[in-house]
Amino acid sequence: MLRKDFKSLLSSLELLTHLQKQKLLAQIRGNSGNSSVKLIESHTQDTNLCPHCGGVHLSRWGKSHGLQRYRCKECKKRFNALTGSSLSRLRHKELWLPYSQCLQEGISVRKSAASCGISKSTSFRWRHRFLSGPTQDKATKMVGIVEADETFFTESCKGNKCLTHRKPRKRGRSSKRSKSERVPVLIVRDRSGTVADFVFSDIDKEEIHNALKPLMSNEVVLCSDGNSIYQTFAKAENIPHKRIIAIDKTFVVDKIFHIQNLNSYISRLKSWMARFHGVATKYLTHYLGWRRVLEKNKDNISGEFFLLQALRKIDQQLTQT
Ligand SMILES: [Zn+2]
Repeated sequence: MLRKDFKSLLSSLELLTHLQKQKLLAQIRGNSGNSSVKLIESHTQDTNLCPHCGGVHLSRWGKSHGLQRYRCKECKKRFNALTGSSLSRLRHKELWLPYSQCLQEGISVRKSAASCGISKSTSFRWRHRFLSGPTQDKATKMVGIVEADETFFTESCKGNKCLTHRKPRKRGRSSKRSKSERVPVLIVRDRSGTVADFVFSDIDKEEIHNALKPLMSNEVVLCSDGNSIYQTFAKAENIPHKRIIAIDKTFVVDKIFHIQNLNSYISRLKSWMARFHGVATKYLTHYLGWRRVLEKNKDNISGEFFLLQALRKIDQQLTQT
């Protein structure tokens, strides 16, 4: 539809009665509902595997909750497109595609709820079910120049009604947080944009070592700040290492070794997360995963992306068995 026609359509909406508006809304939701269910069904048809045993001999076994049910001829178990996925047993699947679009836009729980016509608590529950896919989709290998650094997020028990380990903080402008109130996150990024992140309870030499080691392929050059943990790691693993010591006013070594790309990533991550006004520490990995996939896919991310990611868990389980 041409933009001017769409504008005149929008202005004509004011002329509708309340009942007509309700009918229009139901029609729109019905269309997106069909699209959601079609997308979910097509996923099973594409994978064509039993989520319980990986069997390929399936027979159709009636319908349940609006989805085609299958029976595996090998393990005799029944399943549908959502079995084993993070979306299993959630209701209102007709709204999942519009909700996936809300995640693509990175809008708040409240705005997503209003946009899809669901409650805030449902919107919150869906957000974290949808994001459990991207959380697991983390880089396993880095190549070339690899930048590593730690950043910190304020420890938060948002949503937790029983604080036992500290007094509740007062609202308003934050004072400087003590060390115990900051959650360290190690972020590793190579020059192709591959990112991995790790949430720790404390900056610990062994934990950082264990996180970095599997990521390092042959012929990488590790760039870090002056923190001796990275130096010890590089020495132990015999990995070329460039230390960028800001206190010496050295920001780039040999014109190419620096951690500025990573610092830019952290800066984008923090400014993007500001919209959530602090996230609960127990969900921090979900937000890190959300940002990772948005960065990785940039403009190519579609409205279906987060719904397909949430369904992908089925494939991951099968490949592990
Ligand atoms: Zn089976």
